[in-house]
Formats: sequence, C-alpha cells, structure tokens
Amino acid sequence: MSKSFLIDTTLCTACRGCQVACKQWHGLPAEKTVNRGSYQNPADLSFDTYKLVRMREAVIDGKLRWLFFPDQCRHCLEPPCEATAGDPGAIFTETAIGAVIYTANTRALDPDEIRESCPYNIPRKNEDGTLAKCDMCSDRVENGLEPACVKVCPTGAMNFGERDEILKLAEERLAIAKKKYPNAQLLDPQDVRTIYLVAFDPLQYHDAAIALNHRKGMTRQAALRKMFRPFNRALSSFG
Ligand code: SF4
Ligand code: SF4
Ligand code: SF4
Repeated sequence: MSKSFLIDTTLCTACRGCQVACKQWHGLPAEKTVNRGSYQNPADLSFDTYKLVRMREAVIDGKLRWLFFPDQCRHCLEPPCEATAGDPGAIFTETAIGAVIYTANTRALDPDEIRESCPYNIPRKNEDGTLAKCDMCSDRVENGLEPACVKVCPTGAMNFGERDEILKLAEERLAIAKKKYPNAQLLDPQDVRTIYLVAFDPLQYHDAAIALNHRKGMTRQAALRKMFRPFNRALSSFG
C-alpha cells in the first residue's frame, strides 16, 4: 500500500515551518523577494521552492477570511506528467511509497509540455530545462521517517501515512470540519496522494487547488507523441 498526505487547511496557521523544513532537508537556497503587499513569500513555486504556503484574503459570507494553502505535488495515482514524459529515466513512480520522482534526465524532455500536463501547476524548470518538484522526501520515507514538512508542522495540519489510514483520517477530519464549515470538502481524494481538506470553495484558495478538467491529462500533442513513440524509436534504430 502506498503512502498519502492529508493537508487539513482548517488547522493551518501559515507559520511556514513546512516551507522552511522542505528547503532545509533538500539544501535548497532562499530566494530574493520583494514586498508585493502579501505575506505569501516567495510569490510562487520554483526550481528551488517545492513547498509554498499560499495565502489569500477573501470575504466569505460577509466575513474577512485568511485562506492558507500549503501547496506541493499531489503525487497523482495516474500522473499525467509521467505519462506525458514517457521516459522512466526522467519521471517515474516509486511504487513502494507512491512518490512521483523527477531526475536530472528531465533536462531532455520538453519542459513546457510537462508543465502543461500537470493539472495542479506544480513542476518548475531551471535555466537548462531541468524540472524539479516535491519528491515526497522519499529518502526519509524509505528509511522510516516522516517527510520533513510533516515532521515540523506544529498544528496537525500536515499528516502522512499509509493510504488507507489517511483516507480514513480525511473522512474523520471532514466530518469535524463540516460542523463549523458546511461547505468543507476533500479535494480529488481518489486521484491524488496529497489530499487537501478545505473549508470553502477551493478556487478561493488557489487557482490550481483542484484539477481543472480542461487541463487534466495529456495534451493532444503529448498523446500523439506517445502513440507514435514506438514507431519513432524503431525508425531511429535503423538510422
Ligand atoms: Fe500550516 Fe503546518 Fe505548514 Fe505551519 S507547518 S504553514 S501550520 S501546514
Ligand atoms: Fe505530476 Fe503534477 Fe501530479 Fe505532481 S501533481 S504527480 S507534478 S501531474
Ligand atoms: Fe518538501 Fe518533502 Fe514536504 Fe515534498 S514531502 S513538500 S519535498 S518536505
């Protein structure tokens, strides 16, 4: 059985401990930022930022609300990015735990096509086209440790474990949240290994909080390329 996350945003205080722990564990540098009139910092995910606590203010039912969304890869059960790449040396699922892993070989892929295939707008590229994103802290998890972001979360917002246990916990937390927030919901729980619990309309938190249908799956060009890939390989072997 693979692993999963439950990110209960109703418990998140936006302390950003998870964001910092992710950088520390992966040895990723800080980014130079400017004041954009928001506490969210940096502005977006990047090649050096795999985890970002997104912050928005919204007036909901006449009340001003802070909406916090600790964004990261969803480790999809059927990852469109992996299908689009079609190269297990570049993007593959670590089947024992369910982590979707990117390697340095992503440099040989079309980075924009991979990015476009992700329904949650997660992968980011550096100057030479290599792609990076959250790796589920697979080196920690394979050695019996929790992901760094889960380990440091002080409120219980970040949870990690066997998928069946996380699905059960998600339903329990949803029932609790619904008492206070009638529109509380789990986001795409049957499709992803990073399951969010939100109190309000998910699009109020982040434009890619849920998989938008028009972006889900492979692009048409990627689907065609996948269909013809065996023929192209056979032809190139004659070349
Ligand atoms: Fe929210 Fe926990 Fe991350 Fe703090 S560590 S920002 S409470 S998810
Ligand atoms: Fe790939 Fe995006 Fe799914 Fe992560 S969220 S596994 S990057 S398709
Ligand atoms: Fe970062 Fe690891 Fe958490 Fe992914 S699982 S967001 S790589 S700390």
